[in-house]
Amino acid sequence: MSEGVLEWQVAGACNYDCSYCIQSPRYRRGRPEIAKLEAAMAWFCGLPGPWELKCSGGEAFAHPLFLDFVVPALMERSSHWLSVLTNFSASREELSAFSALTRGRLRVFSASLHLESVAAEDFVEKARWFVAEIGAATFQRKKAHMGDTPTDVSPDVAWDTKHPGPHFVVNQVVLPGQEEDAARCKKLVEAAGLRWFPQLYKTKRGVAEYPDPVALSALIGKNPSPKEANLSPSYFGRRCEAGRRYGVVDKDGALWSCRSAKRNSDGYLGNIFDGTAKMWTQVRRCPFDRCPCTVPANRGMIEGIP
Ligand code: SF4
Ligand code: SF4
Repeated sequence: MSEGVLEWQVAGACNYDCSYCIQSPRYRRGRPEIAKLEAAMAWFCGLPGPWELKCSGGEAFAHPLFLDFVVPALMERSSHWLSVLTNFSASREELSAFSALTRGRLRVFSASLHLESVAAEDFVEKARWFVAEIGAATFQRKKAHMGDTPTDVSPDVAWDTKHPGPHFVVNQVVLPGQEEDAARCKKLVEAAGLRWFPQLYKTKRGVAEYPDPVALSALIGKNPSPKEANLSPSYFGRRCEAGRRYGVVDKDGALWSCRSAKRNSDGYLGNIFDGTAKMWTQVRRCPFDRCPCTVPANRGMIEGIP
């Protein structure tokens, strides 16, 4: 069981350039140098107890220091769990090295399928290989372990006590008007025995409009829970542990209590590169209209959300 979860944008830069990327190309830049990463390690390793670090980007694997420094340093110097959100473009050699480094400490490996850069068939074939490589649980294995239905699973569900990981999940942004493509991928992924997790397309104002609600609900269900799809609901006014047991660190080392906190500049906790970052000790009531963060909702950090 981890103390909490921190999402860390290890690098701003990405080796893909998806037309629907929520991060603008101007923002999607930068790979912190070793001195900053050393400072980040010092801060992460000073956290009490094992936390879960979810490394993302840009693309973490596209920063050479991710595999050469960040992952081994975290494994050697801390007891933290590691999760990653990646576009899965790393080579098999790099992924094998990652698997060896993180054995026993990898919790969730979320691989995002981007059809503008990779064919679904190739992606699935690589995913099958990697699942065997890391000995990951797929939703089918979880079903056997825990007696749940396959859809009652998300990348962020707390399986901590019974099966801490590794878990492998395929994420895919379902683009408005391209539900058929997503349906084809879902079928391919699930036929390979893997978990497919839909992300709705986000805009600055929330979730995009979908022209075909029927096609969409065929993919994500009629009233999906936060564990089944990321819908950016509102939890305004509920007590939330974001800032105390959850936070997001951006590519420049700034720590925020959650994504909405960053977007609204309300919930800044300092910077991990200069050592000023500090988690809150209190919980607060959510002051935001939309919650795009799946972790607090799926890890029991928000009042009234089991
Ligand atoms: S892989 Fe992700 S971060 Fe990179 S361009 Fe595509 S959507 Fe953006
Ligand atoms: S937006 Fe979500 S994570 Fe942030 S405070 Fe509100 S409920 Fe918590």
